Parts: sequence; C-alpha cells; structure tokens
Amino acid sequence: MDFSIPEETQKLVAKVRAFVATHLIPLEPRLAEGFRALTPALNDARSEAKRQGLWAPQIAREQGGMGLDLLSHAMVSEELGRSPLGHYSMNCQAPDPGNMEILHLFGTPEQQAQWLRPLVLGEIRSCFAMTERERPGSNPTWLSTRAVRDGDSWVIDGDKWFCSSADGARFAIVMAVTDPEAPPHLRASQIIVPLETPGFELVRNISVMGDAGSGWMSHAEVALRGCRVPLENLLGGQGAGFAIAQERLGPGRIHHCMRWIGICERSFDLMCARAATREIAPGRALGTRQTVQTWIADSRASIDAARLMVLNAAWQMEKRGARAARIEISTIKYFVANVMQEVLDRALQTHGALGMTDDTVLASFYRHERAARIYDGADEVHKTVVAKRVLRAYGLEIK
Ligand SMILES: Cc1cc2nc3c(=O)[nH]c(=O)nc-3n(C[C@H](O)[C@H](O)[C@H](O)COP(=O)(O)OP(=O)(O)OC[C@H]3O[C@@H](n4cnc5c(N)ncnc54)[C@H](O)[C@@H]3O)c2cc1C
Repeated sequence: MDFSIPEETQKLVAKVRAFVATHLIPLEPRLAEGFRALTPALNDARSEAKRQGLWAPQIAREQGGMGLDLLSHAMVSEELGRSPLGHYSMNCQAPDPGNMEILHLFGTPEQQAQWLRPLVLGEIRSCFAMTERERPGSNPTWLSTRAVRDGDSWVIDGDKWFCSSADGARFAIVMAVTDPEAPPHLRASQIIVPLETPGFELVRNISVMGDAGSGWMSHAEVALRGCRVPLENLLGGQGAGFAIAQERLGPGRIHHCMRWIGICERSFDLMCARAATREIAPGRALGTRQTVQTWIADSRASIDAARLMVLNAAWQMEKRGARAARIEISTIKYFVANVMQEVLDRALQTHGALGMTDDTVLASFYRHERAARIYDGADEVHKTVVAKRVLRAYGLEIK
C-alpha cells in the first residue's frame, strides 16, 4: 500500500492553500457583514481564482472546470474547507456542485446549455428543493409536493424548506411527486424551476442559529403555487427523482467530509497556537496543562484517522462505484461530522471567552457546522445503513 500523494496533486494543494491564506482568510473578519456586503471582495477573489486556473475542480476541463479525479478533488476540498469562503471562491459551494453533477449526468443538451454552462462559469447560482417541513427529510420517498402534467407543462404545488442558497439563485431543482400510485422509490421526479416562474415564492430566509443570512449563505423556505414549467424541464426520467438524488449525494459526501477535515485542521492550528501562547500564570502557557495536551493529542489522532477513512472511501468509490462503497460512504458521513464537532469544541474551549466571539473564525464554524450531523442524512440514518449491511453478513435481514 502506497500512501504517497502524486507530485502534481501536492503542488495543486499548496497553490490552493496559498490562495486561501492570501485572498480569503483576510476577508473573514468581515463575515458578520453578510453576503451582500462581502460580494464585491468575493467577486475579486473569484476572478483571481479563475485567473490562477482554480475553478470548478470537479467539472471536466472541456466544460470549464479543472477535471480533477475524486481523490485530488478531495484534497483540494480540505484546503478550501480551512475558510468558510473557500468553496464559494472556486465555484464548488453546495448546492451548486451537486446540481452541476446531476445536470451533467442526466440533463438534455438543451438543459445543459441553458443551466449547466452558466452555472459552471459562475454566472448564476442554483438551489435544490427536496426537504419539506411537514414531512421527514430522512425519508425522501415520502413527499407532499405534487407536479401534475397539464398539456405541455408541469404544474407544481407544494412547500419546501432549507433550500440552501435559494436567495439570488436563478433556478431550483425541485423534487415533486409525479406518480403517486407508483412504488415509493419511483413516485417523485426532479424538475428544473426558474425562480422567476410565477407562483414560485421565496417566503423567507430561515433564521438558523441566530442568523438568517442572505445570498448563498442562507437557507430559504419556499412556496410553489400553480408553478407552471415546460415538460422539457423534467430532469432524467419521470419517476427517477429518488435515484438521481442518491447519485447526487455520493461524491458530495466525500467533498463535505474533506471540507470538514479542513475545518478540523484550521481549528487545530488555532487551538495549538493559543495553547502555546496564552499564559494562565506568568511564564506558564496553557499548553503546559495535561488536559489541553490530551485535547491536542486526541484531536491529532482523530483528524488523521478521519482523513484516511475519507480518502479510502473516495478510492473505493472510484474503484468499485458508489453502490459498492455504501458502507464506507455512510461511515465517513457520521464519523467525520462528529470528529469535526469534537475538535471544534475543544478549540473553542481552549480560547475561553475569545472562542465565543467573532474575533476568530471558530464561532462561525461552530454555528454553521452543527448542521453537519443532520443534512445529507442524519447520523442515526447512516448508522442504520451501516448496521443493516453489517448484520446482513451475519444472516439478519432488516427491512
Ligand atoms: C444547514 C442545512 C442545509 C440544508 N440544505 C438543504 C437543501 O439545500 N435542500 C434540501 O432539500 N434540504 C436541505 N436540508 C434539509 C436536510 O436534508 C434535512 O434536514 C435532513 O434530511 C433531515 O430531515 P428533517 O430535518 O426533516 O429531520 P427528520 O427526518 O424529521 O429527522 C429528525 C431526526 O430523527 C432521527 N431520525 C430520522 N430518521 C431516522 C431513522 N430512520 N432512524 C433513526 N433515527 C432517525 C434523526 O436523529 C434526525 O436528526 C438542509 C438542512 C440543513 C440543516
């Protein structure tokens, strides 16, 4: 087994790290001003990223991206994760990359020209509307939003929430039931809905952990009332909504997990620097205390373990496909989310009151990343997936 990283990837990772340090970390003290105030500076950073060839890492070169394989993209994602502004600056901020992926895999040439191309170029943003407040997001086969065929249109009615980045997005990919009598996995379809469509209403940006946010830093509640779009806006086949949604999440989990490892590493740096320099008595640094040393040692071990698990899952996915790597993908989703929370919590604790302020990036990470144990499948759901598959090998089939 060879753990060495190809030289080309090492160079790329170093370049991305330098970009984040030079162009993004200096902007972080302004995070509290929100998306709109930051937009001009972020646009400059995005132009600089493009100029350096650091753009849409997961997208094929001929389509305007960097064409990275999953492992190289994973490593880039870790570097970008060191700043909350990282992924947006290189046009790989969720939910856009997932939408790019499914438009690439399932979109018609017309859909790709109209929606995928400008998305890859960073001219527009998008959102993904699956979850409903009144139904369990953990069971995406059970939705109330309906799309009914009427002449040459789909007419969509329903309510969605937690549509990340809907504010200012050009289009949503909406999951709606098209075949209510079909088996659960075949009931829903995905339909492209431009946000300007009459009947599509952004009800509010939901206040999440005290911040309603705006632009891509927001999560919206939306209503669709008699929203009429052409039949050609169906993505993939009718009834394929659930299968496409599953496809969207495989590589996405690798990128999310590596982004969380980037957060771990940044938090770890801050924790160690604070432990080395904060004096708790004249001439006595905080890091001389065994409790803090244990936090540092435990964090180092769990971050390293988490990274190896994610890279192994990415490798398994590339070699065996997402379906065969189902256990590995589910395991990293809950394992890394929990490692991140533990490391972040220790880093915050090491900073005392300073950790609670927005004078470091830790509080922002802490507020926004609690959600990691919920979105893209809650911890408990992934643990069930893993346990079911493990127990199958012992002769126990759980329905
Ligand atoms: C920050 C953030 C961004 C999001 N972005 C998007 C987005 O862009 N688009 C979108 O469509 N959705 C988005 N979501 C929604 C997300 O996908 C759902 O929140 C998630 O699927 C869980 O669904 P739910 O909130 O309805 O919780 P529920 O399904 O009601 O579950 C609640 C809790 O019950 C437990 N649970 C549920 N099922 C099981 C089970 N089978 N076994 C054991 N325990 C179980 C878990 O602990 C779970 O946390 C986002 C959510 C967050 C927090």
